[in-house]
Amino acid sequence: MISAADCTTLHNGVKMPWLGLGVYKAADGREVRNAIAAALDTGYRSIDTAAFYGNERGVGLAVRESSISREDLFITTKLWNDAHGQRPARRAFEESLAALGLEYVDLYLIHWPISGKFTDTWKALEEIYGEGRARAIGVSNFEIHHLETLKKTADVLPMVNQVEFHPRLTQEPLRQYCRQEGIQLEAWSPLTRGDIFSHPVVQAAAEKHAKTPAQVLLRWDLEHRVVTIPKSVRRHRIEENAAIFDFQLDAEDMVALDGLNENHRYGPDPNTF
Ligand code: NAD
Repeated sequence: MISAADCTTLHNGVKMPWLGLGVYKAADGREVRNAIAAALDTGYRSIDTAAFYGNERGVGLAVRESSISREDLFITTKLWNDAHGQRPARRAFEESLAALGLEYVDLYLIHWPISGKFTDTWKALEEIYGEGRARAIGVSNFEIHHLETLKKTADVLPMVNQVEFHPRLTQEPLRQYCRQEGIQLEAWSPLTRGDIFSHPVVQAAAEKHAKTPAQVLLRWDLEHRVVTIPKSVRRHRIEENAAIFDFQLDAEDMVALDGLNENHRYGPDPNTF
């Protein structure tokens, strides 16, 4: 991993950048377009949006305004909880694609595992994948038992599982399971939304490597071979969050950071959401 364009290879051979820009809560229109323009200037090639974020239109505009060719970009969007079921899912995908103004997405995810519904929804994602309109399909916020349920009826296994992941929630069993199954793990809220920047362990690693706390947390994802999608709409932070390919955390740093685990969630628990 030497640059923001470096990729992991998903189990279907599609390449996905290790770093992407998250755009949750970036306002549709100028805010999200400027953030994406800054990210693409900085070298990001992957953008993570969702129907729920209400900014697919702005994301699509930013992609079309950029001089970077579509094949070099990796665009993810997600199916919201009101669109589960095979037919609603197909409709939701069409709406997302129309809002984005794109002919295909690189990754389409089920945003949350709604019990009793997600296996039907997955059938729609398999169709979309079969038609080549999503280069990869996956899930988000799936626990091991959700993935096991999906596996019983799935023809195609998810290529990605996007979950909350940071040193206070290290997801060790899920990480191990996904590794065994060939499912790439992707971290949301990788920065704990800033909550642990001043923790002594994070501070110590930052001082040791002459990096910022945000860079330490994002590098920790990469050392665990987890794709990371920090969110910011500010150019200087977008740049800071991409400057993580010129240093490495050592075993001692990793043990100390892993030791912060408390199974603490900043977001909802997939089992009760
Ligand atoms: P995050 O951990 O990326 O934190 C983002 C916040 O941290 C920003 O709003 C900003 O205030 C601050 N920040 C960013 N860079 C900084 C820096 N260098 N220095 C200081 N502060 C900085 O949190 P997030 O937005 O929750 O997660 C990232 C992305 O993950 C989202 O934008 C979204 O794309 C995705 N996400 C997915 C789900 C899901 O259910 N699949 C849920 C939440 C988020």
